[in-house]
Amino acid sequence: MNKLERPEIEISKSKTLRVVEIFGPTIQGEGAYIGRPTVFIRFGGCDYRCLWCDSMHAVGKQYAHQWAKMTAEDILAKVDILTGGQPILITISGGNPAIQQLETMLILGKKRGHTFSMETQGSVAKPWFKLLDQLTISPKPPSSGEDTDWAKLDASIAAGKDAETSLKVVVFDRIDYAYAQDIGKRYPDLPLYLSIGNDNYDPNMPVDKEALHAKMRQLIDWVNDDKWYAVTVLPQLHVLLWGNELGK
Ligand code: SF4
Repeated sequence: MNKLERPEIEISKSKTLRVVEIFGPTIQGEGAYIGRPTVFIRFGGCDYRCLWCDSMHAVGKQYAHQWAKMTAEDILAKVDILTGGQPILITISGGNPAIQQLETMLILGKKRGHTFSMETQGSVAKPWFKLLDQLTISPKPPSSGEDTDWAKLDASIAAGKDAETSLKVVVFDRIDYAYAQDIGKRYPDLPLYLSIGNDNYDPNMPVDKEALHAKMRQLIDWVNDDKWYAVTVLPQLHVLLWGNELGK
């Protein structure tokens, strides 16, 4: 059955969503769809407060007055402007977009030919995950200062069972790496991507690319020393190309 025809999810009256930014087309810089042309929709609000968050403008309540209230139709109209009306991969980001009610946008967007990918930390599961084409669950490692609720992570993965689901862990240090290994063992059937954390994040400062390259080489050494051949190690391509610049 076509996902759009599933009876358990109905098109509800379109409500406003909290939108931080809609930008692109650019490319996806991480994970399973790295390099794919895409438009990003970043939603506001998050149930986490990661110590190294690079999207605080989409998290902190002090920024909420800057977030636009848009209906699903408003959002898709903006995407149409950016793509000239052409269908595209739409990447849903945040904040934690799982706290939003996105089923109407997904249903209407898929009718226009768009495909949808979403990244969430796996702390909130929603029935509408089944409408996604791709779902990246990115549980946050110990360096984030957040604890993983394993039951909620399991529920998030189960909710996305109809999507092409993969896992992604950002690694800042050896303890994060051990956490990533635990994730790999817990979910052996899901593709797992590792990337290096950018710990000199400041939108007003240049990225220390040599430091990132060195950490990436170190991560690759750890993986190969452990003969961990089921994992994929990727750079954050957008950071290498555009540094800390917002909207890329
Ligand atoms: S889950 Fe993501 S958006 Fe939320 S605080 Fe952590 S890094 Fe920031």
